Amino acid sequence: MRLLVVEDDPDLNRQLTTALTDAGYVVDRAYDGEEGHHLGDTEPYDAVILDIGLPKMDGISVLESWRRNGRIMPVLMLTARDRWSDKVQGFDAGADDYVAKPFHLEEVLARLRALLRRSVGHANSEFICGPVRLDSRTNRVSVDGNPVKLTSHEYRLLEYLMHHNGRVVSRTELVEHLYDQDFDRDSNTIEVFVGRIRRKLGVDIIQTVRGLGYMLAPPGG
Ligand code: CA
Repeated sequence: MRLLVVEDDPDLNRQLTTALTDAGYVVDRAYDGEEGHHLGDTEPYDAVILDIGLPKMDGISVLESWRRNGRIMPVLMLTARDRWSDKVQGFDAGADDYVAKPFHLEEVLARLRALLRRSVGHANSEFICGPVRLDSRTNRVSVDGNPVKLTSHEYRLLEYLMHHNGRVVSRTELVEHLYDQDFDRDSNTIEVFVGRIRRKLGVDIIQTVRGLGYMLAPPGG
């Protein structure tokens, strides 16, 4: 899952980015409204954390413009405490949730998980395909109840496929959602990771759809 953090306070931006990276997300960051607006308008993020008070372009204007341009990714607003008008304006502009400053990072992470799974129509943090279970809260994967150790890269790939179970996901989409903007992207590496995940799981739930990409399917299904 690839996220964008738009926050002008450098310490807060760094804290958020570190916590999100530790939680297994790929994170791009912006420090003002214009830069954040441009990234959110052109890159495919799974969710965005957007501060309201930003230099150059305020968060409400950024969000309104994204929604006008048809950008539908979930957006979590950061608001100043006691600014109820910010929250109302933010929701009206198209925000999905908010956290008031100062906040606990755990709350931001929990709200993000909820936004990410709701954006794909999933009600809880556990994803299941045949004997494979993935818990997006603990980042744990098991097969028939036995834990499987995946690297963070492998986990991110499987998590993305689990979130989009039921449709074909192209290699390009995977590359766009598993690497940040500075990464040297090569879609061949996706095949290598899929191969490793298949070996580690020991059950083949990742089907290759020739010429199109990958799709999850329970074994024998
Ligand atoms: Ca700010």
